[in-house]
Amino acid sequence: MTSNLLDYDGPGLAEWFGARGEKPFRARQVMKWMHQSQVADFGAMTDLAKSLRAKLEAEAEIVLPPVIRDNVASDGTRKWLLDVGVGNAVEAVFIPEDDRGTLCISTQAGCAVDCAFCSTGKQGFSRNLTVAEIIGQLFLANKLLRQSGGARYVPEGMDSAFDPMAGHLRPVTNVVMMGMGEPLLNFDATVAALNLMLDDNAYGLSRRRVTVSTSGVVPMMDRLRDACPVALAVSLHAPTDSLRDTLVPLNRKYPLRELMAACLRYLEKAPRDFITFEYIMLSGVNDTPAHARDLIALTRDVPCKFNLIPFNPFSVGNVPVQFQRSDPARIRAFAEILMQAGIVTTTRKTRGDDIDAACGQLAGEVADRTKRVIRLQRKAAEPSGV
Ligand code: SAH
Ligand code: SF4
Repeated sequence: MTSNLLDYDGPGLAEWFGARGEKPFRARQVMKWMHQSQVADFGAMTDLAKSLRAKLEAEAEIVLPPVIRDNVASDGTRKWLLDVGVGNAVEAVFIPEDDRGTLCISTQAGCAVDCAFCSTGKQGFSRNLTVAEIIGQLFLANKLLRQSGGARYVPEGMDSAFDPMAGHLRPVTNVVMMGMGEPLLNFDATVAALNLMLDDNAYGLSRRRVTVSTSGVVPMMDRLRDACPVALAVSLHAPTDSLRDTLVPLNRKYPLRELMAACLRYLEKAPRDFITFEYIMLSGVNDTPAHARDLIALTRDVPCKFNLIPFNPFSVGNVPVQFQRSDPARIRAFAEILMQAGIVTTTRKTRGDDIDAACGQLAGEVADRTKRVIRLQRKAAEPSGV
């Protein structure tokens, strides 16, 4: 069977080469071609012997998820919709800023956690993405952004005067696993993809520039801490168990007390000395001054920052979800209370609105349409009169 070489992290690829009698440095050469130069054609890997290239062509492949759509918003946000088979699509979103370029990537097609306010959750769970499909998002973003010119940044720790031709400049400097799916419920593939992001022979990002976002899968937070500690964002969304139970169903399994304890354990090995709590602002649901004060009490022992996320409305079928975005004054007042208590608080800008860049929106549309098509096909196949 042919292996997709994008499915292997550094040690995995060395093993794959080893099993075929090849030295580990060959694996490193191929890794650099794939992940630093975004080359997907063995024939173009000019520093490999012809015989090795022929062997690779026979036994291996480099397969990326096909791009279904590629949209650029007026604010520069760029969003790709990727085909991951049988009617499933996932999204990757690139957000350029002055000093960095952040790529938001997906880890699952759909999501089983089923948060009440989340378009991905409403699509149900289809399947885990493979390592190739996860790292492929970073591969494609780097490749396509480089092709189209646009923003490039100096990698961390590198002198900006290093190369006047700017050959070392990178489009993607930061990665957040905040797209579709729950990364910690696709643990092994997520960790292999993280290893590639951090590997100097691949993307060479520092741990502080890679963030995993989780709805709070407590045992897996411990495993991530031991396997590959990167920056951690926790989707909190409520200060009490009774409210969080209704918004994030996983809370019934791992309630707030356990979640806060897991955050403290994570910080023992984390590359940053704080947890980022994400908090979606839902009008009249979790956005009152009392909620803010309860949050201060809840997180008293956990070094943290808050990122307030204005809710992005969406529809399921033709029915809009029941939530509304808190108004800006409410959000400002909420942030003010947290900041008065000494907690650094930011509010996420809603970006890329004109291309549906909000989590899960575009893929939801596609999934809906695909299901409709399948229903129609089934109907057409039914014998008439039934
Ligand atoms: N499953 C992980 C990571 C993906 S979701 C998690 O839940 O953390 C990434 C972020 O998008 C989460 O903080 C989630 O709460 C937020 N989100 C989901 N639906 C949203 C919506 N409709 N509007 C705004 N943010 C949303
Ligand atoms: Fe899944 Fe995150 Fe959406 Fe919740 S918010 S359903 S965990 S993707």
